[in-house]
Amino acid sequence: MTFASLGLIEPLLRAIEALGYQTPSPVQVEAIPTVLKGRDLMAAAQTGTGKTAGFALPLLQRLIQEGPQVASNSVRALVLVPTRELAEQVNESFRVYGQHLPLRNYAVYGGVSINPQMMKLRKGIDVLVATPGRLLDLYRQNAVKFNQLQTLVLDEADRMLDLGFARELDEVFAALPRRRQTLLFSATFSDAIRQMAKELLRDPLSIEV
Ligand code: AMP
Repeated sequence: MTFASLGLIEPLLRAIEALGYQTPSPVQVEAIPTVLKGRDLMAAAQTGTGKTAGFALPLLQRLIQEGPQVASNSVRALVLVPTRELAEQVNESFRVYGQHLPLRNYAVYGGVSINPQMMKLRKGIDVLVATPGRLLDLYRQNAVKFNQLQTLVLDEADRMLDLGFARELDEVFAALPRRRQTLLFSATFSDAIRQMAKELLRDPLSIEV
């Protein structure tokens, strides 16, 4: 199995090759073609399985292939994560994987001043990585719009619930377009996560790695 055989385009293959990845991991083998097709996905995957590339690579490809250009204050793909550290880490992965593509990615999280984030969002962002609380603050202040949103990713969904983000998440979900692709990653699948998946995902492929 190779990354090329999973259907990834040249600019992404070049980025992967420069990182020294030789073969796709099991979660990548399942996730990449599924996400490229536009299908929803629910994955039981721990950190260290390569899940980030599993959603980031095909998501970048869809953004490039489907246009349109992002409008002011709009976001085309939203990745929700539980912590600031993970937000920075996932955003860095998008930067590296997308280095040969003309897309903008950015991370927002609480505990730092909101004004620079509001400024940065003005131009529009293709991939926004966010913690739920700060995202909601930005949304309430009209700094971020979801009218162009095409993909939602929930990364470490179980940790987001453990950290008490259920309310914030529900408010974000209510603001998103119904017609979109949704990907849910969680290390564990509690009843609460299953319920969330049932409400958010439409005919998902379910994988466990
Ligand atoms: P993640 O599970 O997304 O946190 O990724 C764990 C680590 O594996 C990261 O440091 C990635 O850079 C690395 N990685 C992801 N996919 C591959 C791959 N196919 N081959 C080698 N390393 C990889």
